[in-house]
Amino acid sequence: MKWDTSKADKQYEKECVVAPETPGSEPRETQETLSNLLHETRRFAPPAELAAAANVTAQAYTEAEADRLAFWEKQADRLSWSTRWNTALDWNPPFAKWFVGGELNVAYNCVDRHVEAGLGEKVAYHWEGEPEGDSRTITYADLQREVAKAANALTELGVGKGDRVAVYMPMIPELPITMLACARIGAIHSVVFGGFSASALSGRIKDADAKVVVTADGGYRRGAPSALKPTVDEAVKECPGIERVLVVRRTGQEVDWTDKDVWWHDLVDRQSAEHAPVPHDAEHPLYILYTSGTTGKPKGILHTTGGYLTQTAYTHHAVFDLKPENDIYWCTADIGWVTGHSYIVYGPLANGATSVIYEGTPDTPHRGRFWEIVQKYKVTILYTAPTAIRTFMKWGDDIPAKYDMSSLRILGSVGEPINPEAYVWYREHIGGNRTPVVDTWWQTETGAVMISPLPGVTSAKPGAAMRPLPGITADVVDDQGESVPNGGGGFLAIRDPWPSMLRTIWGDDQRYIDTYWSRFEGMYFAGDGAKRDEDGDIWLLGRVDDVMLVSGHNISTTEVESALVSHPKVAEAAVVGATDPVTGQAIVSFVILRGSAEEGADIAAELRNHVARTLGPIAKPRQILVVPELPKTRSGKIMRRLLRDVAENRSIGDVTTLADSTVMNLISEKLPSAKSED
Ligand code: ATP
Ligand code: MG
Repeated sequence: MKWDTSKADKQYEKECVVAPETPGSEPRETQETLSNLLHETRRFAPPAELAAAANVTAQAYTEAEADRLAFWEKQADRLSWSTRWNTALDWNPPFAKWFVGGELNVAYNCVDRHVEAGLGEKVAYHWEGEPEGDSRTITYADLQREVAKAANALTELGVGKGDRVAVYMPMIPELPITMLACARIGAIHSVVFGGFSASALSGRIKDADAKVVVTADGGYRRGAPSALKPTVDEAVKECPGIERVLVVRRTGQEVDWTDKDVWWHDLVDRQSAEHAPVPHDAEHPLYILYTSGTTGKPKGILHTTGGYLTQTAYTHHAVFDLKPENDIYWCTADIGWVTGHSYIVYGPLANGATSVIYEGTPDTPHRGRFWEIVQKYKVTILYTAPTAIRTFMKWGDDIPAKYDMSSLRILGSVGEPINPEAYVWYREHIGGNRTPVVDTWWQTETGAVMISPLPGVTSAKPGAAMRPLPGITADVVDDQGESVPNGGGGFLAIRDPWPSMLRTIWGDDQRYIDTYWSRFEGMYFAGDGAKRDEDGDIWLLGRVDDVMLVSGHNISTTEVESALVSHPKVAEAAVVGATDPVTGQAIVSFVILRGSAEEGADIAAELRNHVARTLGPIAKPRQILVVPELPKTRSGKIMRRLLRDVAENRSIGDVTTLADSTVMNLISEKLPSAKSED
């Protein structure tokens, strides 16, 4: 029995339902402002040594503020252009063109120019397969040869400039090679995460009207070969526009073969290793990438060439303080998500970095695999997601403690708000209390990091993304689009165009306008709630769609979840607002307990009181449900809209982007007892 008792509910009403706060009776400003409940006082100043040698200092803020466009032009100059631009920005709201008239080749910038600079023998990727001992070292010279061959192969398959290429691959070197080959010839890649179903794949192929798919027989997941080709076969049957399917042999699994199929080793290996990169217009499309689908139907986000590469390269240099000569950088995201596009492929390669790519899961063959990889390659910069960090916390401190991770100097987080407990755990147990943690806020749409500490400048607060990066004008605004004062909460918005912004939703300008540019006049609406603390620093509060309205107060899911996770028995938490006859909405919490915690009868009351003590009685959950798992997207984000369906006893909505669809059954099984309580 995990649901709260009705006695506790009576108590909840007494504490939360105070007359002037019933829905509808509050002044508008209060109702539209997100509550600002969480108080976090820990601070971590940058290590002196790091600050003294940092790539970017506080000066960058001043510089960008004085002349934003000149600042971005300076960052664009970090790249090699075959023709310089004549205008930094052509802004015809909401359509932007950056570095107008400029021409460059992304693959040349990411690969050839480093070889030309004498860095051909430098390692671009240490690739680590999931089966132990299965690794490859790829230098910049290797990458240049492989990309040239793949570009020649795509050309032979009839792929030309502007054509779309769907990519459905495991995390193997041929994946970045394919992306770079597309960029080289001006084809537009659409990478679809290798865990998606045939219908998700065919939907994306059709939406982008791709003519070629690049895939593999399979990849390794959880200690076994996991097939990809059958999914492609099924998808391609639905997609008459697909002319050829290029297949890498990775696992050696048996595959069905059609006359559209061609093996990578048959076609690519016999190509010339020479390919002259042709310059493309700065606004030539680079790729389409569909969003994670956490809040609804995925959108085909379009990114272009010059501005995108400028900002991904700059932010990778600034936010991670990347020193290409010494650093070993590892971003654990899948390349199928934007984080992988920008911070495994384009940003790091443009900067000439040495990166690690890992094919598999963190618990194969054991739960120390990540830390073993850090130790093996002496990783200095690690970039991962809060969902992974909370999983590592759940597995226990003793696991990372077994490895030598003294090489680490900077840690990054992305994908969701990182709750302070997870942040502090990450810093302590992974970073040995030495490393700054950069909490980077951005989206598929923004293309690159927008809000983040700078590791050599910022005294970071656990749980806060802190300040917009130099050159970015992010703001927290109220319902009317006015900046909120320090201490206030509201909506995250971006006031000015930025180089790596999405240019549109593929094939749907109207949806682009409606989704991002119609909520506030002249401003980009990110869809996230945020607060600005007393120092003016920004904290992300989760999706606006997820915000709860309890007795006239807008309460963010993030703050309540953070409070729950700060309890020693809780490993993970997800919170939603469910319709409530008395309070308008009431807070319903789903929690996963830590390995060692007992699920005893009093746990619900204990956690409800803990939240009330931490955030105040208004944030006290009506119900606490202990669950074995939470519904997450394939990119590891919690899908609160499905939990809301559960909490309001509706049939469950679209689950196609869910990582494991059986999770919802496990949760729903606990439901009958819930219904009787309301
Ligand atoms: P969809 O838009 O289809 O619902 P999605 O928003 O989950 O999918 P992404 O573009 O991968 O797809 O995710 C971006 C979102 O992730 C942001 O809008 C924000 O809600 C969240 N996010 C990313 N980084 C952070 C961060 N550092 N702190 C808080 N939230 C973050
Ligand atoms: Mg989104």
